[in-house]
Order: sequence, then structure tokens, then C-alpha cells
Amino acid sequence: MSNKPVTVVAIDGPAASGKSTVARATAQALGWVYVDSGALYRGVTWKALRENVDTRKPADVAALLPQFAWEFFDDHRAIRFTIAGEDPGQQLRSELVREAVSDIATVPEVRAFIVGELRKMTEFGPLVMEGRDIGSVVFPDTPFKFYLDANPVERARRRAAELAQAEGRGDLDQVLSSLTRRDQKDSGRKTAPLQIPLGARVIDSTQLQVADVVALILGELRRAGVAP
Ligand code: C5P
Repeated sequence: MSNKPVTVVAIDGPAASGKSTVARATAQALGWVYVDSGALYRGVTWKALRENVDTRKPADVAALLPQFAWEFFDDHRAIRFTIAGEDPGQQLRSELVREAVSDIATVPEVRAFIVGELRKMTEFGPLVMEGRDIGSVVFPDTPFKFYLDANPVERARRRAAELAQAEGRGDLDQVLSSLTRRDQKDSGRKTAPLQIPLGARVIDSTQLQVADVVALILGELRRAGVAP
């Protein structure tokens, strides 16, 4: 058996910076497994709301964690999960979850729990994982760290377009203020705040297409000899 560590590509950045699309496309190009770490924070939030736990009370949220029975599975090379046998599906993207998730993500017990689960995912093979603390906390030793950013108005414009398609509405001003609020909470929290991980390559995608960003990442992996 080889002891060679499994390759992990860490893609961090603020909300709506294009991380998900880029991470998914990169994983697809490589045939590697895509992990959306934010989905786990949303999963805890979804479960907490469902159990009528006050999401602003860290102790109540932490007390809920032992009741979580997560099952993770590889669904066409993307990690999906059930909690206590239930698939939250699109409910992870609901407005209620979206507005509460950054509070939940400040709870240290929640973060420790999720970081543990994320680290175990190398069992599925080489990974492309996106989030806020993947290069800084979850896999700080990976040589493949990227930090994706874009100017806030462009990010809000992209998110509003996504929402318009998914929910039939997407008011730019409202999206911009919700994004700004979430960015402030994510960057300002004490545990694992959103930051540029040490050694990460920063990519400003304001003027770039998804394919350009993916090509930059694949180029770096090829130069390191880990991608064909
Ligand atoms: O990426 P997504 O927008 O789905 O993430 C939802 C929230 O989960 C973020 O706003 C952040 O509060 C939290 N999160 C985090 N660390 C990660 C991924 C997400 O704190 N690695």
C-alpha cells in the first residue's frame, strides 16, 4: 500500500465568487471528487431550524450535534449526504438557511465537527474542495490552494442571476446587502475566519470566464505533475 497523501485542491473565497462553478468544473475535468464544504454548514443549519433550535444560541446548536447521523456518499463524483436518513436536497439553498448559516458557522463545536468530517473525505479519492477555510484550516498542508475573489457588485450580479433562475426573483440591491452581511460575519468571526490562506494563489475572477479560471488551476496542477 502506498502512503502517498491524497491530492486535495483547496478553493476558498467569499460568497458568490464563482468557487462552486470553478471547483465543480475542475473536479470534472480531472475525474476527481467535488466537495462543497458550505453544504455541511448549511446541513447543520437546516437540521437546527427543523428541530426549532435557536440558531443564535451556540450552546443549543452544539448540543444538537451528537444527534446528527451523517452519511456521506459519492454521487457522480460529488459528495452528497443525508442527516438522520434524510436528504435535505434543495432545502439547503432556502432563504431561511442562507440567512442563518453564518451564525451557525461561528460556533467552534460546529466547525470542529465539520472539519473532522471534511478531512475524512480523502477516503473518496483526490478531492477538489471549496469553502472558506479549506487551505487555512482543513487541509493547510496541501500545495494546491486557490483563493477566488471578484468585486462585490459583480458577485451580487452573478448571485442575483442565479436566484432569478432558481427562484424567479433576485433583487440586486437586496442580494448585495445579504452578501455583504455574510462576508462581514465570515471574515469577522473568531474561529477560522475567511482569509487568504498562506501560500494560496489569489485569482480575481471579476473579468474572467469560468473556463479561464479552471485553466489556470489545471495548469498549476499539470506543472506539479499531479494532473494529466
Ligand atoms: O459556500 P456557501 O455559501 O454555501 O457557505 C455557506 C456558509 O457556510 C458561509 O457563508 C460560511 O458562513 C459557512 N462556511 C464556512 N466555512 C466553509 C464553508 C462555508 O464557514 N469552509
